[in-house]
Amino acid sequence: MVNELLMHTRRKELILVGLWFGKNKPNMNVFLGPFGFTQFNELYGFNQCLHPGECVKNPNKANSRDSGNIKYPLQNKVPKNRNIQDTIEHMRLASDSRKPVFGVKNPPQLINLISFPFLSGYGSDSMHLVSGIAKPFATMLYGNIKKGGLFPKTMILKIDIALINIKATHQIVRLTRSFTEKEFWKAREWENWTLFFNMPILSNVLPSHFVIHWALFVKAMYLLMKEEISTFELDFVDQLLHEFVSKTKFIYSKAAMTYNVHSLLHLASSVYHWGPLWAHNEFSFEYGNGDC
Ligand SMILES: [Zn+2]
Repeated sequence: MVNELLMHTRRKELILVGLWFGKNKPNMNVFLGPFGFTQFNELYGFNQCLHPGECVKNPNKANSRDSGNIKYPLQNKVPKNRNIQDTIEHMRLASDSRKPVFGVKNPPQLINLISFPFLSGYGSDSMHLVSGIAKPFATMLYGNIKKGGLFPKTMILKIDIALINIKATHQIVRLTRSFTEKEFWKAREWENWTLFFNMPILSNVLPSHFVIHWALFVKAMYLLMKEEISTFELDFVDQLLHEFVSKTKFIYSKAAMTYNVHSLLHLASSVYHWGPLWAHNEFSFEYGNGDC
């Protein structure tokens, strides 16, 4: 996507860099090779900071042989942000040892691009981020087909009734289906749920400390999708998201401290470099699925 184009042109004139044809999802390593960093589910998976990650067992599977997943709980000592000099040194060591060093696998091919800032040069994608936060939090609260949540499933009916009775404006093109069907919601339905529908509904069915905590995320996403965002607002968003992330472990659990949750700590900086979330998200690419 070429950022310099006007918005309506930018979405139509996408640059095709690869095609995947198959029944399964693509092997992302094929596409991630040029970036040189480990994936989100491996240690040191962030290209912004040196949070090592921690293997955390799901509390529901505490006694099983399941070894857990990499999570990013807040640490007593704030992990350092990556800097260019150290990262180049990590690349050199990784290249010599042929093993990842602090999450750096090899010198990224993008390092050869003149003027490309290979640490701040990756923007956050709000399509995956908003649904990647809203869906697991809804599951923790109300469960899914396989498991229960913190609150009884009888509440889902109340949410469904409230959702049906909301009259959405015509600007909301894809209406969100009933909450019972949330397993099948598309990313846009999760975004609409987050920005427009969930606060008036959840504030009537959840205890206030859950609502106040969730509102931090909703408010932050709303501000980051404004047409213009001031530096004052960006600082405010950064505070909101730090509060949201720091309280998540205490209100939910350590297992809730996912890659997506930690990435919120870097979101204000990403928007500072790349502009509002609507300006460069992957919805445009999603629309192109199946078009080739
Ligand atoms: Zn970080």
